Amino acid sequence: MLYAVARISDLLASGRTFSFEFFPPKNEAGWLSLGRAISELEPLAPDFISVTYGAGGGTRTKTADLVSWVRRQTAITPMAHLTCQGHTRADVISMLTDYKAEGIENILALGGDPPKEGYGHAPSDYVYSLDLVEEVREFGDFAIGVAAHPELHPRSPDRSSDRAHLAAKLAAADFAITQFFFDVEHYLAMIDDLEKLGVSKPVLPGLMPIGNLGQVSRMAHMSGAEVPRWVVERMERAGDDLDEAQRIGVDIASELGARLLELGAPGLHIYTPNRSWA
Ligand code: FAD
Repeated sequence: MLYAVARISDLLASGRTFSFEFFPPKNEAGWLSLGRAISELEPLAPDFISVTYGAGGGTRTKTADLVSWVRRQTAITPMAHLTCQGHTRADVISMLTDYKAEGIENILALGGDPPKEGYGHAPSDYVYSLDLVEEVREFGDFAIGVAAHPELHPRSPDRSSDRAHLAAKLAAADFAITQFFFDVEHYLAMIDDLEKLGVSKPVLPGLMPIGNLGQVSRMAHMSGAEVPRWVVERMERAGDDLDEAQRIGVDIASELGARLLELGAPGLHIYTPNRSWA
């Protein structure tokens, strides 16, 4: 039996959402452990699960496999990420056709990052995520999300162009999900900027429960997010105790999430390293 799935835009219109993000595992052991994590999290009744996509199409079939698995094996609504990088229009139409046939209702339309040097560069018919949002909209019948960067996208030359492009894509989409951040002021300033530009669609804050300071600092560097000194100091108190580090990381994310909900955030999106502790 297939469970009913929802459009995330409809869920957000009727209340707050609570969601998790996963990436497609690389091997059999990874699939087993992800299956366990999802079955441990399913009783929490998340509103949706989103599945990342390797820019350039590296995980194309794996993303589709995981989205279909969630659709067929759980009662949770899935969302597939899709990137501009490395895709022709024909590729995108073929993926959207497959997703539609599979009963998938939600797409996160992203720019994606250029492939690392030496990995080749497949041609793209899309440059910016707005091009992809427009394609998915024209195809029809999907709720569409986009990425937001509270601390600005690392390739943005300045704040005003970053916010103007964000406002334009969000106006064409249904909702946004943010890159992770630790300071609530970054989120509030972004919402304020968007309102001044006349866009008030829901922006879900992305929370990253830290388990390993080194890994998060590397990811923060790549995404343009700051890891504040107070976060580093709290994490350092765990020393070499990995369980304690995860506990502190969850506390930091929980405090941030509670504050964001108090301030009126439309929900919370939690980045998991494919593990249920997060
Ligand atoms: P865009 O919206 O295209 O923006 C990229 C840059 O171009 C920005 O600086 C923007 O200001 C600028 N820009 C936009 N439009 C114009 C224009 N018309 N003219 C000039 N400049 C413009 N990456 C993956 O590869 N796979 C994933 O699954 C994935 N999931 C993600 C999920 C979330 C919630 C987030 C926040 C990010 C995710 N990313 C993922 C990372 C994302 O792909 C990268 O941050 C990427 O570099 C930019 O994506 P974007 O959608 O913000 O791009």
